[in-house]
Amino acid sequence: MTVIAIDGPAASGKSSVATRLARRLSFAHVNSGAMYRAVTWEILRQQIDPSHPESIEAAVHRMSVDSGFTEAGESFIRINSEMPDLELQTLEVNQNVSPVAAIPAVRSLVNTQLRTLAEKRPIVSEGRDIGSVVFPDTPYKFYLDASPEVRRQRRAAQGLHDSIEKRDKLDSSRANAPLKIASGAYVIDTSHLTLEGVVDKVAEILSKSGIRPA
Ligand code: C5P
Repeated sequence: MTVIAIDGPAASGKSSVATRLARRLSFAHVNSGAMYRAVTWEILRQQIDPSHPESIEAAVHRMSVDSGFTEAGESFIRINSEMPDLELQTLEVNQNVSPVAAIPAVRSLVNTQLRTLAEKRPIVSEGRDIGSVVFPDTPYKFYLDASPEVRRQRRAAQGLHDSIEKRDKLDSSRANAPLKIASGAYVIDTSHLTLEGVVDKVAEILSKSGIRPA
């Protein structure tokens, strides 16, 4: 199993870097945040109160879930036969995803999908706890960061409404798998780097460990 773990706060550049790095290495790209968003979307769709952990836990146990890879090598998750896409970036999902992701049953559901996908193909996986909890034994761990100002600008440039400070606070302070720098992770401040610059840096570090484009 080969897993490149990329963690970091909201809008630190993880998704863009992970997507490009995966393409460069011919690995699949696994976006764990999209899975937490998909579960949150389904909870909202079922009109379950997102501030009620017991109801969410019960709904999670009833969910039929499967995941896989698209032809382009992107992970997908299907919940109760639905595959949300653009809905995952809505304000409502942004506002509710962190409390939903703090619930142990939700984390367990997503972790099972992530570990199953990693058995199938080499992956670049991004999130908050990929290097610390989901794949603690991988030798390839990165933590991307950027100043709050730069991260706010990046979200605004994407035209997305996101409460990144609030999410980061909740994600870092939860008891279960909080956002933190995994032991052994390379920390890269992306504030003043271009996207290609960050990908080059990660690829250079990986190539020293023998991970190179095919
Ligand atoms: O990466 P993204 O910002 O899309 O993640 C959405 C939310 O999913 C995060 O704010 C966090 O609450 C949750 N998440 C998580 N653990 C991960 C990835 C995402 O708790 N590994």
